[in-house]
Amino acid sequence: MDDMAGRPYAELAASVMAPYVPGSAAAEPLPAHIKSAYGTFEHPAVVPLRQLDAGLWLLELFHGPTLAFKDVALQLLGRLFDFELGRRGTRLTVVGATSGDTGSAAIEACRDRAAIEAFILHPEGRVSEVQRRQMTTVAAANIHNIAIEGTFDDCQALLKALFGDRDFRQTHHLGAVNSINWARVMAQIPYYFQAALALGAPQRRVTFCVPSGNFGDIFAGYAAVRMGLPVERLIVATNQNDILARFFTSGEYRKDRVRPSISPSMDIQVASNFERLLFDLVGQDPDRLRGLMATLDQSGGFAVEAGELARAGENFSAAAVDEEETRATIAAVHQESGQLIDPHTAVGVAAARRLAPAAPVVVLGTAHAAKFPDAVEAATGMRPALPPRLAGIFERPERCTPLRNDVRTLQEHIRETLEQRP
Ligand SMILES: *Cc1c(COP(=O)(O)O)cnc(C)c1O
Repeated sequence: MDDMAGRPYAELAASVMAPYVPGSAAAEPLPAHIKSAYGTFEHPAVVPLRQLDAGLWLLELFHGPTLAFKDVALQLLGRLFDFELGRRGTRLTVVGATSGDTGSAAIEACRDRAAIEAFILHPEGRVSEVQRRQMTTVAAANIHNIAIEGTFDDCQALLKALFGDRDFRQTHHLGAVNSINWARVMAQIPYYFQAALALGAPQRRVTFCVPSGNFGDIFAGYAAVRMGLPVERLIVATNQNDILARFFTSGEYRKDRVRPSISPSMDIQVASNFERLLFDLVGQDPDRLRGLMATLDQSGGFAVEAGELARAGENFSAAAVDEEETRATIAAVHQESGQLIDPHTAVGVAAARRLAPAAPVVVLGTAHAAKFPDAVEAATGMRPALPPRLAGIFERPERCTPLRNDVRTLQEHIRETLEQRP
């Protein structure tokens, strides 16, 4: 850690990730891929720390191409995929479904990559205009947007059907870049080191507060702790979809229905990376873990034992933040500091202030305010300006194919499109 402090972000990230790829073909070119990935970020510090008040810092993770923290992992992942596919002399057809943010981050990660074709499905008319244009105005021949006549759930069901068709999957080399991909988690570990070192680690212990949905981002923080970073606490901040917050306070993990919020990227029912933490909480006992996951499937929930919950409490605290408090926090931060924050980040600030830990607290800023202009304007009366890199999206032509909600039609479209590609 002494050796990492003060180094440029790409160099620090390379040293944090190196132990995860020993002996792999990716080990030697990894630093160059990392440098290239973070060269797409608008801020020279890549992930700058901004002080909000006496004890609270924002770690701004949203200076990448699509203005959300998912770029930090996906910009690198696209390059690693392309490298490995090129080495093997094969190609990959990435298919994904999005309700808004993930789609554009995946598209920016895959665009112009020689070995990748990407088909991204979104529900027609059900994503915001900015979100749609962030996807459809990308002028890259290997990117194929599809608007499905239906809901996000319909899009996910179509994906499932595509992957379930073994012939189709193998013939066209289907692949996914979803949030349980370990390389995505790995690429999120370095910024915990970067921020903690900037605030005095390892001598001083820092608390991190993380706006959470699928538990990938905060799991990366836990991985940093397991690697040896001294952290005071990891705070899980959820919106009104609070399955994670309920777990860390009661030990019961139980599904509820999804209630749409102004922080939509955290509107989840089951957190796909949570199983990774659960494995440690049950003492890495695979049979016990399998049993808990089966109970979740069959009866919609499970409870862990007191000792297992206590183990979670050694590192984690949690808080759920409702819509009203989220709006009030956006307004308060603007009033105090002139800073506009997005609703996801505001959930983190609210949770950090409620639990008020003594150590310095770093809240992860997961999206740029300009990505959620309506919610920010409603709370503050100020409309955040679209950053220059997105300024052209209202003029550029859109490319998108509307399709019926039907798996045969979708397969036909993918087959025909791929035949026309080199
Ligand atoms: C995806 C996302 C989150 C949640 O991150 P997880 O890793 O799923 O917990 C939070 N905020 C924003 C803006 C996101 O896009």
